Amino acid sequence: MRDETKLIHSGYETDPTTHAVATPIYQTVAYEFDNAQHGADLFNLAVPGNIYTRIMNPTTDVLEKRVADLEGGVGGLALSAGSAAINYSILNIAEAGSNIVTTPQLYGGTYTLFAHMLPRLGIEVRFAGGDGPDDIAPLIDAQTKAVFSETIGNPAGNIIDIEALAQCAHEHGVPLIVDNTVATPILIKPIEYGADIVVHSLTKYMGGHGNSLGGIIVDGGTFPWADHGERFPMLTTPEASYHGVVYTDALGPAAYIGRARTVPLRNTGSCISPFNAFLILQGIETLSLRMERHCSNAMTVANYLKAHSRVTSVSFAGLPDDPYHGLAQKYCKGVPASLLTFEVDGGYEAAVRFYDALKLFKRLVNIGDAKSLACHPASTTHRQLTSEEQAKAGVTEGMIRLCVGIEHEDDIIEDLTQALAAA
Ligand SMILES: *Cc1c(COP(=O)(O)O)cnc(C)c1O
Repeated sequence: MRDETKLIHSGYETDPTTHAVATPIYQTVAYEFDNAQHGADLFNLAVPGNIYTRIMNPTTDVLEKRVADLEGGVGGLALSAGSAAINYSILNIAEAGSNIVTTPQLYGGTYTLFAHMLPRLGIEVRFAGGDGPDDIAPLIDAQTKAVFSETIGNPAGNIIDIEALAQCAHEHGVPLIVDNTVATPILIKPIEYGADIVVHSLTKYMGGHGNSLGGIIVDGGTFPWADHGERFPMLTTPEASYHGVVYTDALGPAAYIGRARTVPLRNTGSCISPFNAFLILQGIETLSLRMERHCSNAMTVANYLKAHSRVTSVSFAGLPDDPYHGLAQKYCKGVPASLLTFEVDGGYEAAVRFYDALKLFKRLVNIGDAKSLACHPASTTHRQLTSEEQAKAGVTEGMIRLCVGIEHEDDIIEDLTQALAAA
C-alpha cells in the first residue's frame, strides 16, 4: 500500500466480534485469562494476547502498527507523550556510566531532559557543536550508546543529513535515534536513510488537531545489537526484571522495541490512554492531505515574510537561499513542513508588539495543529535556558516561531499583514 492508503488502513482489520469498521476504543484496564495456563503462557510471551493496558491495548496496538508501517519499522511502542518516547528510547539502552551524543538543535523539553535530568541518573549527554558527522564523530567513545538528533529541528528548522549521520554512528558501532516529529513519515522516512530508531510526538502533526498528547518509538529492526554485545548488555545479556530473557535471542530484530515495552514501560508506566490512541488514529487518516496544505501555506507565508520590509530574516529551509535548502531537497522534496522562524525589525519590543496583535494565529506553545500557531520561544519554550544555551539551540530574543495551519492562505496573510503593521 502507498502512504495515503496506509494512513487509513494499516494495523486494523474489521473487528471480528462486532464487525465495527472504525477502530473500537477498548477502554479496559485488564483482560480475562481463560485459565491459569493461559495466564502463564501470556506472561511467558509464549502466546500473543493482552494482559494489562499499561503494557498493551488493542486500540493502541492499531496505532503502533500503523505508525510502524508508515515509518517502515518492525514494531512500535505508543506512549503517553513524545517526551516519554524520547526518555524511554534512551533509558532502554543507557545506564549510569553511559553517554549519548546529540546534535545541539533540540526541542526545549528534550534539551532540559538531556542537559539536566539524564546526567543526574549518571547518563552523560554530549552536545555536539553542530549537526554534521564531523561534529558528532569525535564525541563517540566506548561508553556511547546512541547518537540522537531531530530530523528537522524544532524550532531551529535545521535539517540533518540522515544518511551521513547514520553512517557515522554505524562506523562507531552505535545506533542513530531520530525525532521525526516535525517531518512526519509523510515528508521523511528516516529508516530508509539508515536511522535505526524513530521517535515522535504524536501530539503534533500526526494527531493534528491539538487535542491529544501521545508519543511513539518505532524500531527499524536494523541495528545489529548482538554484534556489539559488550556495548549493549541490556539487550544481549539476561534481563533480571523479566525472568532472565535475552532480548536479542528471544526477539531478534524486535529486541529493542520488545525491551522498551517490557522493561521501561512495564515498570514506569508512561502508557497512552486508549481514547487518545483513538483520537490520534482519527487524525492520522488525513495526515497526507493536511501536510500538503501545511506545506503550501508555509511556502506562501515564507515568501511573503521574506519580501516584507519590516522583517529582517526568515529561517525556512523551503526558501532557495536557506543554508538547509539542499538537504530539504534531498529529504523532503524542498518543503520542510510548516514550522518557520523570523525576526521582526525592531528586535524584542517589535516582536512582542507583533505577537500581541495577532488575531487568527493562536499565541501558544504547540505545533502541528490544523490551526495557525505562533510562539515566542525566548519567553516560553526556551525560557529556562541561558542566552548562551538559547543561541546554541538557534533561539534569539526577537525570534517568532510560526507553525502555519491549514486555513485559507489569504486569511493567514491578512493576519500577518495587520500584525506587522502593528509592530
Ligand atoms: C512537542 C515535541 C516533543 C515532545 O512531545 P510531547 O508530546 O509534547 O511530550 C518532542 N520533540 C519535538 C520535536 C516536539 O515538537
